Amino acid sequence: MAWNPWARRHQQQREALAETTARAVLAEWAKVRPDDVARDWGRLLPRVTAYVQAGQLHAAEGTHTFMKDLLGPDAEGAPEVVPEQFASQTPDGRNLTGVLARAIPTAIRSRSAGQSPQTAMARGAAFLDMVVRTIVSDTGRQADQAAMVANRRVVAYVRVVELPACSRCIILAGREYGVSTGFLRHPRCDCTMEPVTRRNRPMPLDAEELFESMTPAQRRKAFGEAGTKAIEDGARISSVVNARKSMAKVEMFGQTVQVTYAGTGSRKKKRPPRLMPEEIYRQAESREHAIRLLYKNGYLR
Ligand SMILES: [Zn+2]
Repeated sequence: MAWNPWARRHQQQREALAETTARAVLAEWAKVRPDDVARDWGRLLPRVTAYVQAGQLHAAEGTHTFMKDLLGPDAEGAPEVVPEQFASQTPDGRNLTGVLARAIPTAIRSRSAGQSPQTAMARGAAFLDMVVRTIVSDTGRQADQAAMVANRRVVAYVRVVELPACSRCIILAGREYGVSTGFLRHPRCDCTMEPVTRRNRPMPLDAEELFESMTPAQRRKAFGEAGTKAIEDGARISSVVNARKSMAKVEMFGQTVQVTYAGTGSRKKKRPPRLMPEEIYRQAESREHAIRLLYKNGYLR
């Protein structure tokens, strides 16, 4: 069994996009002076927001090509996603600039706790790296899922996991989910989905097969010394991975730290309240209803 090459290429492109976007943002963060974090980052925020939005847009633009390449005739006549609509906020419905601005209190708190300027800036960088990669990956998955829900030929999706990956993702490799089921993920998670139709029946690698193809170093990193030994001695992988570490449908930016950001730009414009796709799947009484709501909220055309 093996991954579909289209699904694999899609996963790799998304991963590369998250990486490139994070790098562009970190290059801006490197210009910030440790003693003037708020002012410097505040000045750079409009540009940084634009970089991330471009990454999101790119990710969502990849959806249509992916569905067409992968599904061929099964993609014909299906509604298309509107990439811009997925790139106008974070995937959990927050203001993008506001989230990126939180690098400021992250660095400042670190300084007030007595850490060196270098450490404080590194904290800010780690925060931004996590947030940007997660936003780009999540935006792409959100668009993919909307396209799958909207295509009635898609009956389910399977999880595509590319090595290296963490133990939590490895145990979910190849599992099949209902088409509107929330995607289990963690910050920086770069797993993707492959749609299942009557014609396209993925035969993905499962956790055991993935383990077989891992290098000794990858095994140790994902499962630890003891866990690796246990699996090599025949333990089931799911019994080795700590249940507490299993993933929720992540509240990505769950903690609510309010940031006052005195900048310019469009964030003051009030957008009409919209439903995020996950909220639509929760509320909808049927798939048809979900598709209607996706149209109504501008995600499909
Ligand atoms: Zn993972």
